[in-house]
Amino acid sequence: MATSKAIGIDLGTTNSCVGVFQNGNVEIIANNFGHRTTPSIVAFSHDIKNVGQWAKDRMHRNPTNTIYCIKRLMGKKFDDPSIQNDIKNWPFKVVSKKEKAAVEVEFRGKREKFVPEEISALILKEMKKIAENYLGHRVKDAVITVPAYFNGAQRQATMDAGKIAGLNVLRIINEPTAAALAYGYKQDRKEEIILVYDLGGGTFDVSIIKIHDGNCEVLAVAGDGHLGGEDFDDILVKYCIDEFKRKHGDDVSSNPQAICKLKAACESAKRFLSKSTFAPIEVDALYADKDLNCKITQARFNELCNELSEKTIGPVKDALENAKLTKSAISDIILVGGSTRLPFIQATIKKFFNGKKIKADINADEAVAYGATLLAAFLTNTFDTSIKNLRLSDVTPHSLGTEKSVDIADQSSSEDASNITVNNVKKRKLVFDIIVKRNTRIPFEKKRTYVTLSDNQSTMNFDVLEGEDPVPKNNNLLGKFVLLNITPAPAAKTKVECTLKVDENGVLIVSAVDNANGSSNSLKIFPDTGRLTENEIVQMIDKIDPIDVVLDD
Ligand code: AMP
Repeated sequence: MATSKAIGIDLGTTNSCVGVFQNGNVEIIANNFGHRTTPSIVAFSHDIKNVGQWAKDRMHRNPTNTIYCIKRLMGKKFDDPSIQNDIKNWPFKVVSKKEKAAVEVEFRGKREKFVPEEISALILKEMKKIAENYLGHRVKDAVITVPAYFNGAQRQATMDAGKIAGLNVLRIINEPTAAALAYGYKQDRKEEIILVYDLGGGTFDVSIIKIHDGNCEVLAVAGDGHLGGEDFDDILVKYCIDEFKRKHGDDVSSNPQAICKLKAACESAKRFLSKSTFAPIEVDALYADKDLNCKITQARFNELCNELSEKTIGPVKDALENAKLTKSAISDIILVGGSTRLPFIQATIKKFFNGKKIKADINADEAVAYGATLLAAFLTNTFDTSIKNLRLSDVTPHSLGTEKSVDIADQSSSEDASNITVNNVKKRKLVFDIIVKRNTRIPFEKKRTYVTLSDNQSTMNFDVLEGEDPVPKNNNLLGKFVLLNITPAPAAKTKVECTLKVDENGVLIVSAVDNANGSSNSLKIFPDTGRLTENEIVQMIDKIDPIDVVLDD
């Protein structure tokens, strides 16, 4: 019987990639089409679900039931402004399911809602299947990558997607860290500080990483969770809609079929523009039997994308500042993600780094899966001597803390004597009490003590936040819980200790305990934290079709 091998999966916004470590090497596995990356696209057609190239190729025939960019919905609420903005560009329907963003499709003759974890699970399951077909045995263990800038809810959603797909998620690893691992895992490298600039289909990450002898120490991360190739595609789609309207007088912006056809044509024109000074964009019978025939020059495209391109420099500066480094301390710049092939992106980075040469000896599409595969092999002891010393240390991308009510009249004494329960609304204001600053090395455990505000106070509410803004509502609410049965005592006499713990996957666990009598009190997590319950996960596992190939266990 074959021994089950662990796999590394890069679960991308646009494409996904899977690898396995064998014969002393990482092998990136090709799908049935012979492609080493697979479109992260799921199509629902009659009573079958299809993932990958097939779904992509038939998108224009089934636009409202073909889901792409699901990573942009992971861990997001329906009313999130970025979701509300994306909805305008997507031909499929986005709905609210228990406040979470979900998609609704026609499947098996009825309308059905799928949460992003389920759609991502279908993609992960396809990647698992690609590996199983290649290896000839079932695969269970996997390392899955996420953008470094993903927040706690998005990481948790990715882990849940892995579970639904039938995977044992060994570790969630940041995409730029995985790329750095792929670049620097060989033991004979001298110590270097590299900057990984990772611009994929939907997200942008910058990581500054010290690498040495198989050690990858992340010094700082920064990024934009909503910036990538899909945005450049949207710019081109808008350009074409305007051209079509100018020539034919028809507005196709709300026609799902036309949008799908345009999206495909624009994505390939964009790729063409990475090599050519102009690209034709042609779509037969785009709308009402009228053809789209236009062209765009590279210069015009650069101009249209200039603002987004310049926007990537902010996080680069941010990461350098957080790592307390200047540009000159960076020995190599590593480009990861398909969108870094765009000449204007390369020019923008080069200009910022005063003409510094960019490293070209890394595969921008495969480096992340490569690094994830190395880690999977390491964690399952199937590595060889070349990665014996592999050590990773990452950081948390966002500051973490709780909402706290402080005494406006006497803020100086409020640090410890304040209470996060709002009792006296007039005199108090709510602030974000940062317990753990961003770019803190993970895993970690940090504690903060709060005291009761009123006599015989029996409960204390905690709103757990992530972000950088002093005003609580401008940050990301990760979850709420209430500590019950606090020991009755005069105000400020009972101490409650709140613990924030982030594990090696970057997943946050929060707890609180009443220290007044040394006993721990009950903790209640409200159901609106966005997490799936174990029960929901089990139901979703059942909802996903069984594997349709016969394999060794
Ligand atoms: P990734 O998430 O790394 O697979 O990156 C996918 C994104 O890279 C998509 O938006 C692609 O359109 C884009 N991409 C891939 N190749 C090129 C290219 N040659 N020029 C411009 N963009 C590209």
